[in-house]
Amino acid sequence: MTNAYKIAILEGDGIGPEIMAQAVRVFDVLQAHRDVSFELLPAPFGAGAYFEHGKSFPDATKAVCDDSDAILKGPVGLSFEESQKIPVEEQAERGAILPLRARYNTFANFRPIFLPASMAHFSPLKRTVIPDGIDIMLIRELVGGLYFGEKKRGVDATGNRYVHEVLAYDEVQVRQVLKVGFEQAAARKGVLHNIHKSNVLMSSVFWNEILAEVHADYPDIKVENLLVDAAATALVLNPGQFDVMVMENMFGDILSDEAGGILGSLGLMPSACIGPEKSYYEPSHGSAPDIAGKGIANPYSMIGSVAMMLEMSFNMKAEADAVWQAMQGVFGDGLSTADLSEPASGVTMVSTVEFGDQVIAKLSTLLDA
Ligand code: NAD
Repeated sequence: MTNAYKIAILEGDGIGPEIMAQAVRVFDVLQAHRDVSFELLPAPFGAGAYFEHGKSFPDATKAVCDDSDAILKGPVGLSFEESQKIPVEEQAERGAILPLRARYNTFANFRPIFLPASMAHFSPLKRTVIPDGIDIMLIRELVGGLYFGEKKRGVDATGNRYVHEVLAYDEVQVRQVLKVGFEQAAARKGVLHNIHKSNVLMSSVFWNEILAEVHADYPDIKVENLLVDAAATALVLNPGQFDVMVMENMFGDILSDEAGGILGSLGLMPSACIGPEKSYYEPSHGSAPDIAGKGIANPYSMIGSVAMMLEMSFNMKAEADAVWQAMQGVFGDGLSTADLSEPASGVTMVSTVEFGDQVIAKLSTLLDA
């Protein structure tokens, strides 16, 4: 019997439509080669949705997402200047992304920081620092902390304006993401790097207490504790010391963008946002307004997000591996999008569409074999 899946497609803003157009081609190839069918359900989401429908996460889009088996989301948002045209509460993160995460409680954000040795020349780090490339799984808590805490602005009796933004977690939220971290560590090298700031933040003291409790269920896992500021340095100086990293929401937001830097481009950063019942998949980066519409965006992050969906939502690991292999094969042929092509580096620059063409051709061959 054919496996049939419904996928909500939220192409988003900026480079979103360009990279999404390449990513959805993977579903066509899979349908042609495997006993599986995908029904793609496009829906407006983000700044474009706001201008067209008055809401950045319209009710009709919520219904499409509710009805889907998984959600594929492109980046959303506008340049700082353009986003001022949208009321603060409807700007893409506050109006669309955070409500999407809350709606499906997608608490565990998997952000692979992966650069095989064959692609290590794309990293700005010296080859002696990353002789074997980079292979880290960063797990970011995604539905708590500062981003979801109570927010209040006001003026005190002396006329001094103030803002309060609360960093809140409860033990259920912390426990559930830490369990994911320990499970990942168990499935990989048995080491978990816990990134925190317990020398300053009570939320980190609390986090570390829960970690000690969860650790009791995983006695074979070695926990390495590192302050987030030190972790930021260590990621650059010696990323090879990390295998699985787990951290709260804002730390993960910032360190994962730093990770895009050590890979050579945010265009190499796919992600999976996993909830108990529904998950969504998105590039880690934003809508890249500086290059939108030029046909030069790197679709690896978006296509990689499809690979993560295949493995994590549809149990199609072999097919996911084929997608990774196809993309790495394109780089192996000496081709790359502009973000990774330096003049005189020996890399031939291709457009977003040409990169997609190459991936699709290789994927078809791999699935035929
Ligand atoms: P960004 O991540 O969009 O871009 C940072 C830099 O990385 C830019 O130079 C951009 O050209 C480059 N880049 C990113 N993705 C690329 C790709 N696939 N190929 C080649 N180059 C790529 O960050 P920003 O400019 O600070 O943010 C732009 C908008 O995106 C803002 O509105 C921001 O709020 C939003 N944003 C959305 C998400 C999301 O949808 N999950 C995440 C982060 C930022």
